Amino acid sequence: MKSVLIAGLVHETHTFLADATDIERFREMVWRRGSEMLDYCRGDLSPMGGALEVADAAGWKIYPSRYGAAMPSGTVDDDVLEAWWSEVERDLDGALAAGLDGVLLVLHGAMVCTSFPDAEGELLRRVRGKIGLHIPIAADLDLHANFSPAMAQHATIFTGYRENPHTDARDAGVRAARLLDGVMQSGLRPRVVCVKPGALYAPVGTGTTNEPMRSFEATARALELAHPELLEVCVLPGFSYADIECAGFSLVATTAGELAHARKLLTPLAEAALERVAEGNPLDPSVDSALPEALKYTEGPIGLIEPSDNIGGGTPGDGTGILQALLRYEVDNAAVVINDPEAVRACHSVGFGDRLQLAIGGKVDRLHGPTLTLDVEVENLTDGKFDLENPNSHLASLVGRHVDMGPSAVVRHRGVRILLTTLKTPPMDLGQLRSQGIVPEELYMVGIKAAVSHKAAYDPILRASFYVDTPGLGSSDLRRFTYRHVSRPIAPLD
Ligand SMILES: [Zn+2]
Repeated sequence: MKSVLIAGLVHETHTFLADATDIERFREMVWRRGSEMLDYCRGDLSPMGGALEVADAAGWKIYPSRYGAAMPSGTVDDDVLEAWWSEVERDLDGALAAGLDGVLLVLHGAMVCTSFPDAEGELLRRVRGKIGLHIPIAADLDLHANFSPAMAQHATIFTGYRENPHTDARDAGVRAARLLDGVMQSGLRPRVVCVKPGALYAPVGTGTTNEPMRSFEATARALELAHPELLEVCVLPGFSYADIECAGFSLVATTAGELAHARKLLTPLAEAALERVAEGNPLDPSVDSALPEALKYTEGPIGLIEPSDNIGGGTPGDGTGILQALLRYEVDNAAVVINDPEAVRACHSVGFGDRLQLAIGGKVDRLHGPTLTLDVEVENLTDGKFDLENPNSHLASLVGRHVDMGPSAVVRHRGVRILLTTLKTPPMDLGQLRSQGIVPEELYMVGIKAAVSHKAAYDPILRASFYVDTPGLGSSDLRRFTYRHVSRPIAPLD
């Protein structure tokens, strides 16, 4: 029987946001330890759920340690990494004394802490330092990981999501656990190689049903088939809103063969990622070019996609660009979601059917459109909890199956309904609207704060969708950002 310590720390960090991410943001989403972590994750479709399924089937003795995850947001306080590490270190001590064969970590790969720009590299370095060179470490990654040399140096196995929207998050956990089980049985010690082409892809350019990612993923699968020593090839377009040295596209292979040979096999893919960088950075049309086109449709639902306030990419979710556009064009039967705890409290202080003057959105910073003060009617007041309609939703990679938006309210101003939430919640599952009394299929227009992650939920019901360029730090135009730390030269900046 193999003994494995399992832990996880998941965050996608947007370093251009002014607000820091403290440990409370983890506690309000996922911050669980020991048997509580096992009970929470067993049977769900998160990477941790997938890893535990393999662990149970293989009969591992599990040392369950700390698992934390928070919504994408600004730079993470060092306290989070230190709190995580103090417990994991203690659990590793206990496991090493009793006998430890492997470590399995559920990671994202794009976490940035105040003192540790490469947070995953740092925590892998600490784990490796503790357990020595011979015990294998396996980790799974989001495809938006900003992979670093330290990550390659300290871990034994990496697997990554292959789909964006991330409907296959569980599978990455399954493969990490299976590969770890294999190397614990065989005694083989694979190594990890990374090639970085020097390219940033904006989130809108990283969808895997579109080019160029679709071709890159197909090439990666073909490489694995043709070269069985490549245990896993990860195509990681990275997370571009991180101004850190290791930001950007990475090709990563876990190989049982020669590192130099694996590097040679990855190089054509890296060259292609650089050549196709323009396709990875499509620009969004202005509201005034997109809306008239959208309004040519007499029937909905029509999606207005707003990458600039892409909640899954870390932005505040309180941008008012789409709401303004819907009001200016007098659109009827529309809905938007805006995260605004203050507005929710104001609604909960009155009752159903009451009217009030409500200041909505644009409060976290000055970059996501102005606060709009509207005369609204309160249509619904809820606790904001719902279960995923699609258990494979992109949200499952973050939260498993239960979603908590905090106290929420639905208000109406003219033809627009606004779902106000306390905890920002990306539009990755239709249960978000339906649970609050808004039937998404019956809407004419719906504002969607996302770049790609909404597609699995919304594309099947949308008659058409239009990307729009609104104000915000999720802009698809990376040249609007001032990068100081990313390794240069990098396309499309240089
Ligand atoms: Zn991602």
